[in-house]
Amino acid sequence: MVAKSLGPAQLLDYEKINLRGVILEEGSPTAHVAIVARALNLPIIGRIRGACDRIADGDLLIVDGDRAQVFVRPGEDVQKSFDDTIRAQAERDRHYVNLVGLPADSRDGHHVALLVNAGLQVDVEQISQSGAGGVGLFRTEIQIMMHQELPSLDHQTEMYACTLEMAAGKPITFRTLDIGGDKTLPYIETEDEENPTMGWRAIRIGLDRPMILRRQLRALIRAAKQTGAELSVMFPMITEVAEFDAAKKLLERELAAEGLPKDGGAIRVKAGAMLEVPALLYQMRALLERVDFLSVGSNDLMQFLFASDRGNPRLAGRYDTLSPAALRVFHDVAGKCALAGRPVTVCGEMAGLPLEAMALIGLGLRNLSMASPGIGPVKEMTRSLDVGSLREYMLPLLDSPERTLRGKLRSYALDHGVAV
Ligand code: PEP
Ligand code: MG
Repeated sequence: MVAKSLGPAQLLDYEKINLRGVILEEGSPTAHVAIVARALNLPIIGRIRGACDRIADGDLLIVDGDRAQVFVRPGEDVQKSFDDTIRAQAERDRHYVNLVGLPADSRDGHHVALLVNAGLQVDVEQISQSGAGGVGLFRTEIQIMMHQELPSLDHQTEMYACTLEMAAGKPITFRTLDIGGDKTLPYIETEDEENPTMGWRAIRIGLDRPMILRRQLRALIRAAKQTGAELSVMFPMITEVAEFDAAKKLLERELAAEGLPKDGGAIRVKAGAMLEVPALLYQMRALLERVDFLSVGSNDLMQFLFASDRGNPRLAGRYDTLSPAALRVFHDVAGKCALAGRPVTVCGEMAGLPLEAMALIGLGLRNLSMASPGIGPVKEMTRSLDVGSLREYMLPLLDSPERTLRGKLRSYALDHGVAV
């Protein structure tokens, strides 16, 4: 099917028609439509200019997401060679299956936790198949975007309880609604904004329309009560410590309404913030005194750090997450969290890429949350890594004037037998 535009919510609708792959004329890997496609395990390729003109409804297509190639009306030889590729991929996947029951700890004994990013119940089902330790980021808006109106308190309670039950005791960190930017809900009135990703979104909507956030928090509390699971909640796009305080107050208010103390009492509530806005980097001391944990949303943090729209394909390769500037940020955050004794997870797309994950671990990060297909390759990397040696190699490089350390990190991996 050829369509003029595609957002994350529409993709969920297309799922009903047995969608097998997505080609976009524009798009970038951290755009939400790409994230939802990965959650649905669909190959997706962006930046195929002129695709709509060249492809007609009914054309046979091969979409090779790994190599970013599209074959339009492929001949039999191409189809046959592609079948071989799929068989080789299945073999590789079988190899990763052998790692499922094994820890992700490094060769020199550093404990690394690999978690999944989820947004649909099917992702949660995949926790045990992938061998992940739990869900590091549950994007609650993805389920909610599938409904025409805001699901009622009972409906949301049922959704979250079902999700917690599916996780079978493994922890889930629920992120409260991150609406805005390219994720819209028909019943939340928004105005056209010049810069929607920096606009009225996420916790900003939550605090301005507290009824929506309070209903969600109440549902999460009830779901935890029903299932006996611990409740871990994080707030997206926190920009000032005062916003975290205000959101936490709403959480405490809903706990009180459910007859529970501020810390959740028997249901053990943890409240954290997402670090996605650079201003928060300069409020770390006050922030870390307040939060139970931090989660670095590197997709947004990098787009704001480099003033570089994550959905704009022209900018996709312009700045590198492995540049000294970006890596210094991660090093700084890891150090401050360790000093304050607060757990920190990286949950942006870079955590699921073996080379990037290697760099994050070298800088002191130990909890990585990613789309579930990333777990096998990242685990293979961590198990072949000597963290002490990598750290010694990396830290002096952080002062380098080079544009990116990607080449050096790749050479390090090759020279030291790290599987990236
Ligand atoms: C992020 O910004 O890195 C993140 C995980 O949140 P999202 O991709 O949903 O904006
Ligand atoms: Mg984000």
